[in-house]
Amino acid sequence: MLQDALGRRFYYLRLSITDVCNFRCQYCLPDGYQGRPDAAFLNLSEIRQTLRAFAALGTEKVRLTGGEPSLRPDLPDIIETAVNTPGIRQVAVTSNGYKLPQRIDYWHRAGLQQLNLSIDSLDAEQFHEITGHDRLAEVLTGLDRALELGINTKVNALLMRGLDNQLSRFLEWLKHTPVTLRFIEVMQTGDQAVFFRQHHLSGQGVKQRLLDDGWQPILRARDAGPAEEFWHPDYAGRIGLIMPYSPDFCSSCNRLRVSSTGKLHLCLFTEQGLDLRPWLQPEVATEALQARLIELIQHKAPTHLLHQGDSGATSNLSIIGG
Ligand code: SAM
Ligand code: SF4
Repeated sequence: MLQDALGRRFYYLRLSITDVCNFRCQYCLPDGYQGRPDAAFLNLSEIRQTLRAFAALGTEKVRLTGGEPSLRPDLPDIIETAVNTPGIRQVAVTSNGYKLPQRIDYWHRAGLQQLNLSIDSLDAEQFHEITGHDRLAEVLTGLDRALELGINTKVNALLMRGLDNQLSRFLEWLKHTPVTLRFIEVMQTGDQAVFFRQHHLSGQGVKQRLLDDGWQPILRARDAGPAEEFWHPDYAGRIGLIMPYSPDFCSSCNRLRVSSTGKLHLCLFTEQGLDLRPWLQPEVATEALQARLIELIQHKAPTHLLHQGDSGATSNLSIIGG
């Protein structure tokens, strides 16, 4: 079992499969992707090796993220590989929903169980302004299809100061839409200190409003993500809040990250990734990678230092996935 020096156990792996993204979200890649699209991202065999080692050490859930994971043509093969890894019970993808209506059936056939779609606003103009793409209708059509296929679908929305009616529009929508909407507090990264200062909004105010309106807390599963979730008898959907600035946020950390170039990130906000690639080659036994992971996990810090404005070497979240 992967367990760190503080006794935290890691059931959940977020695996980035590409840095490349075609959106220009204001808080992430406002100038678009600036890296090398032909960088050597992990291939299918390296991904298989990574998943086997993590699963052998107790990982039960894998999220494929990026960048934009759907830009990898072999995404269905990657999903299938994850689904067929012994020990992995749940496979999820986080996506911006680009061309989702054309793609979701392939992902479903490959065995996808959970989809997280990033939709920061239900207002088409606001969505366009935030992402640089006028594609809200397309993303919502894809979301409907995912629900039709029975995929457990969640929506991620960044909680942002200055977005008129963001909460009220989502609340209205959740009355009849059976998804979990997760509001995420904007986190400071190296590239966007100014955006962060102007737009960060604490989730605590939203939480209080939900509690006042009769929303009730739901208990977390051990492989659950970091959200505090709520339900309400009058709503088809649920609401989650991800508040990385809350005291104690890191004490229940159950997840690790591997970047698209095979670096282990013990936290979203570390100074450096720890190279796993030499251990991902076909001639290296999975046990050697497991031993490396057990050794590295002991160095996981108790908490991130975001409160001190220190986001480590993370210039934006497209590098290692949110
Ligand atoms: N491109 C995919 C997408 O947008 O869903 C996957 C990668 S994206 C980095 C994963 C998640 O991180 C998205 O939900 C996005 O909104 C979130 N994210 C990006 N930058 C963030 C920031 N500075 N603070 C909080 N969440 C952020
Ligand atoms: Fe791309 Fe996702 Fe970042 Fe938006 S949040 S720019 S979709 S990686």
